[in-house]
Amino acid sequence: MGDRTHILISGGGIGGLTAAIALAQRGAKVDVFEKAPKFEEIGAGIQLGPNAMHVLSALGLEKNLKKLGFEPAAATLRDYKSGKPELRTRLKSVFKDRYRQIYLNIHRADLHLILQEAALKEGVKIHMDAPVNSYWQSVDHVMIEAGENAFNGDFLIGADGIHSKIRETMQGEHKLKFTGHVAWRGTVPTHRLPRKLIPPEANVWLGPGRHFVAYYVNGGDKVNFVAVEERDSWAEAGWNIKGNVGDVRAAFTGWDERIGRLLRECKECYLWGLFDREPLETWSSGRVTLLGDACHPMLPFMAQGAAMAIEDSYVLAKHLMDRDRGFETALERYEEDRKPRTTMMQKISRENGELYHRKPLGDRIQRKMMFKAASIVTLAAYGKLDRVYGVNVTKD
Ligand SMILES: Cc1cc2nc3c(=O)[nH]c(=O)nc-3n(C[C@H](O)[C@H](O)[C@H](O)COP(=O)(O)OP(=O)(O)OC[C@H]3O[C@@H](n4cnc5c(N)ncnc54)[C@H](O)[C@@H]3O)c2cc1C
Repeated sequence: MGDRTHILISGGGIGGLTAAIALAQRGAKVDVFEKAPKFEEIGAGIQLGPNAMHVLSALGLEKNLKKLGFEPAAATLRDYKSGKPELRTRLKSVFKDRYRQIYLNIHRADLHLILQEAALKEGVKIHMDAPVNSYWQSVDHVMIEAGENAFNGDFLIGADGIHSKIRETMQGEHKLKFTGHVAWRGTVPTHRLPRKLIPPEANVWLGPGRHFVAYYVNGGDKVNFVAVEERDSWAEAGWNIKGNVGDVRAAFTGWDERIGRLLRECKECYLWGLFDREPLETWSSGRVTLLGDACHPMLPFMAQGAAMAIEDSYVLAKHLMDRDRGFETALERYEEDRKPRTTMMQKISRENGELYHRKPLGDRIQRKMMFKAASIVTLAAYGKLDRVYGVNVTKD
């Protein structure tokens, strides 16, 4: 091994690539191993709160993100039938002042491309079609097999998502829990829709046992939607399969007419079963550690899963590359810094699912009253958001 710390990363998703950039910028030699033969982000958007934007901005990506993303004016929770706002949180006019960063919606393919280009520019080597199924380690190095080849490094990061093989090698098989939710995702070109059909906001329609999210991506050229429905079981072999547009239309019949109009223009969509796992006791073993969905998958109801992977990446790179008391202490500090926050986010995401899908009329009326109170005492409502968006891991 040479003088430079050599880091192997399994998984070239949002977390793996962000970690690669952060580590390379701190002087590491980085190899990323991605099991897919090529990057193919299927049509879906992603919301990036100010907390994620702080990290991406510190890595020098803000300009490109703003070019390709869309800044929503507000996050609005709506009645599922009338579409009337029940709670509106202003984003554009408030977040920049309050959190020193914006809230941005972007297509995943755009985000991925920006990360990939930045990683290559920093000298990161990305190996495609290179699945990593396990690892071996000694006191001074870690070894993997990726495809046909073997690689040695100083450290290994498992950024290989919810079905992580690195976590499985480290801790044995933990069964994932089906959360009782499925999500359809798709995008529709804006030019196919009547003008201003979808307000330029992060819109969430709340109905019994379901909710529907719609927001702009691609600088406003496309509308992304996520439609979530409760189900008793998930019997499909894969966890993301091509969905039937007729099914999502049927599931949201009788909702705000704007949803029906949007879905009429949808030509294809994908269906996800949403899985969860209890927080892990530890994320690291020797020279190997985990980040993102590999160690703390969460329901998407706070739109913070990728944001947590992005924050993990920055904090891990900082501790690992500035280690002054050995790598064991660096990894302990990483876990100490991150676990309370990611565990809280897993919990808030679950609670949002319960709040969004309330079924009995009485419970829904109670929710409406809660929202009304939050609209009146707006400072208290923003105070609650501070624990999510008010964190800047590049400074804290
Ligand atoms: C419907 C839905 C909506 C969401 N919306 C948002 C949102 O708006 N905002 C937000 O912050 N989060 C959102 N999320 C969550 C977010 O998508 C995830 O938390 C995030 O993608 C996790 O990033 P990751 O890098 O940890 O894992 P992944 O993105 O899953 O990446 C893992 C990578 O590892 C690769 N891989 C897997 N196994 C191997 C192997 N054995 N060897 C090598 N490579 C391997 C995979 O191919 C993949 O490229 C949403 C999730 C869903 C399901």
